[in-house]
Amino acid sequence: MRIVNADDIKAKVAQMCIDANRYLPQDVLKRLDECAAKETSPTAIEIFRQLRDNAALAADRGLPLCQDCGLAVFFVEIGEDVRIEGGGLKEAITEGMVRGYKDGYLRKSLCDPFTRKNTGTNAPAIIHIDLIPGDRLKIWVMAKGGGSENMSRVVLLAPAEGWAGIKKFVVNRVAEAGSNPCPPVIVGIGIGGNFETAPIMAKKALLRPLGEPHPDPAIAKLEAELLEAINQLGIGPMGLGGETTCLDVKIDVAPCHLASLPLAVNIQCHSARHKEVEL
Ligand code: SF4
Repeated sequence: MRIVNADDIKAKVAQMCIDANRYLPQDVLKRLDECAAKETSPTAIEIFRQLRDNAALAADRGLPLCQDCGLAVFFVEIGEDVRIEGGGLKEAITEGMVRGYKDGYLRKSLCDPFTRKNTGTNAPAIIHIDLIPGDRLKIWVMAKGGGSENMSRVVLLAPAEGWAGIKKFVVNRVAEAGSNPCPPVIVGIGIGGNFETAPIMAKKALLRPLGEPHPDPAIAKLEAELLEAINQLGIGPMGLGGETTCLDVKIDVAPCHLASLPLAVNIQCHSARHKEVEL
């Protein structure tokens, strides 16, 4: 049995929230550069330059990458042989997140759905916990902006629609989203599972490094096919035209009911802010 102190979780989570909002991950920066190099439109090239400038300014001055610092979404993998001492896991994560958003001067974006009154702390955090064998504790945080989340969808297709139906739905979704999710986007896709698990798969898939295809070559081929089809839309950076509408497509797959073909599409803007820590 491994003991992890709740105060350590709070401190790590607070710092993760601040860092995620200030520093774009290296794989995202690399992908932005790769895509910028392929652009021929002066507008698209200029937008990529501004995205890189924005990332450098945020890192140098300790400012948030975007005014929308997002809802704090956590994915946690906790081993069966881990025990949290000094408090509960969810409480520790929430307390750390509240501290991070306060200390980092990050915008709190969570409100009551009817009155629209801000909760004032960004709490409660959205936390997905997986119990795994062993004594590892790994926590990921995503700062998920409202603009891209609003463009995401879940649908239960008829099984007969197959890959053609999935591809049509995903490409149409990105086309309809247009400039709203601040492209170039990253598209996370959950195929299978059920009504509640497909969207979680789609969102967690966004944590996989850009440029790293799915380990199953058959799924990797589908990711590449979708990426090409989406980029042929020509929406381009910030919706002003160009070769790059999408930086990458990430698919996760799970078995599903024989009567269903669940499909979730989670759209992530170019400001793909996430961070992970292992305790
Ligand atoms: S979609 Fe992303 S880049 Fe655009 S405003 Fe929201 S968080 Fe910021």
